[in-house]
Amino acid sequence: MAGQGDLELVGEASLELLRAGNERFLDAIESAPDPAAAAASLATADPYAIILGCSDSRVPPEIVFDEYVGRLFVIRVASNVAGNEEIGTIEYALARWGCPIVVVLGHTQCGGISAAMSQLPPGADPPPDSAGSVHLTSLLASIRSHLGWASGLSADPWTDAVRMNVRRTIEQLASWSIPIRHRIDAGELAVVGAIYHVETGEVEFLDAPQGARTDPRST
Ligand SMILES: [Zn+2]
Repeated sequence: MAGQGDLELVGEASLELLRAGNERFLDAIESAPDPAAAAASLATADPYAIILGCSDSRVPPEIVFDEYVGRLFVIRVASNVAGNEEIGTIEYALARWGCPIVVVLGHTQCGGISAAMSQLPPGADPPPDSAGSVHLTSLLASIRSHLGWASGLSADPWTDAVRMNVRRTIEQLASWSIPIRHRIDAGELAVVGAIYHVETGEVEFLDAPQGARTDPRST
């Protein structure tokens, strides 16, 4: 049985790693050629793309797109689903910065997708026990509603389900959000699907974006 002392230690090792990491981050700013400019750049938000990605620890958009602080507006949620909060966050970024592109970024080996599939795909971890967790149950139901008739006919039904989930999320963004729909119709916004391959590090952009192709460098 855990006593008061034990409770104080919970998470301490993790917290220490986080503290040490932030110290290294601050040290890097201090040792930059122009520390004042480096610090000022941290406070500059100038995103040219909105990324709706998965919370999976292997898929941090700033790292896989090799991008600096302030350049990507990122929303991360298990299996990159779009509920009211996620769509509202995208609408905020569009209104604030007028980004010309939204990327819905799924990834191979997505645990949320495997947990929502009717049959566990080979290599997948067992789904988490969602008994007693109404929020996790609701999340899995939301992902499951995207998969619909995802069948096991292909050699890689897990990745097929990941692709289907990305496409359904894109359809939702375009149909549920009036600002997103208007911008697509006006040729001001492209909504693009992509799959990050955790095995190789490659991002595969899917065909047929919703909306116009625009050049983010032309603004
Ligand atoms: Zn995932």
